[in-house]
Amino acid sequence: MNKAFLIRVLAILLTISLFSSGGCSSGEVAYDKLRERMVRDQIGARGVSDRLVIDAMMKVPRHLFVPPDLRGLAYIDNPLPIGEGQTISQPYIVALMTQSLGLTGGERVFEVGTGSGYQAAVLAEIVDTVFTVEIIPELAERAQALLDTLGYGNVQVRAGDGYEGWPEKAPFDGVIVTAAAPRIPDPLLDQLKVGGRIVIPIEDGYQELQVHEKTAEGLKLLFTLPVRFVPMKGKVRDSRTR
Ligand code: SAH
Repeated sequence: MNKAFLIRVLAILLTISLFSSGGCSSGEVAYDKLRERMVRDQIGARGVSDRLVIDAMMKVPRHLFVPPDLRGLAYIDNPLPIGEGQTISQPYIVALMTQSLGLTGGERVFEVGTGSGYQAAVLAEIVDTVFTVEIIPELAERAQALLDTLGYGNVQVRAGDGYEGWPEKAPFDGVIVTAAAPRIPDPLLDQLKVGGRIVIPIEDGYQELQVHEKTAEGLKLLFTLPVRFVPMKGKVRDSRTR
């Protein structure tokens, strides 16, 4: 059976059990409870401890970043389809990548792969401004509209290839890439401040999340983790840029 179909059936069943069980709880209250549980069981329990990250994950209404028929599944421990063959990352991975940037507040952060806009919203709860680029124009438009509606005025979305970064807005205190690349695009390194971090899934046979700090002497690898992301498209795949 088709996996996307199964996910939809599960979502419908879960939504029915969540919201038709009577009592006084409205939908939003039920989502608040699910979000609380997500943060505790999937994120805190796995060792994400940064207060800024925990608070941000508690605030952002993840169910509004998934397609309406999947809302009942928004807080489960998985990535979910968001259309155009793309996915919103698993909550734990969003939290872990955010924590890996080592943010303290007030930063300017650049993201490649806006997708649903969820990761950008989590960052926007912590930093001064988020600049995010999405290669699929329909997703970029949808994300910008949702972020505006939710009041995330500190997120700027652009449709385009994130390979080039966003030179007009550089330099950045942090860079986060949410699609897997064969290597780190040079423009992203150039646009990162010394002392800032880049968090990026690199695929070389298998995928690993790499967290680097840019130092005066070059990149310093801080740690890696096995992950699975959709592939980064565009210029990073050109043979001459390898
Ligand atoms: N951060 C997203 C999830 C990202 S999925 C969220 O929170 O929902 C990865 C996204 O990267 C997809 O939407 C895909 O279209 C986009 N992408 C892939 N290659 C890209 C590129 N070269 N530049 C910008 N976006 C890219």
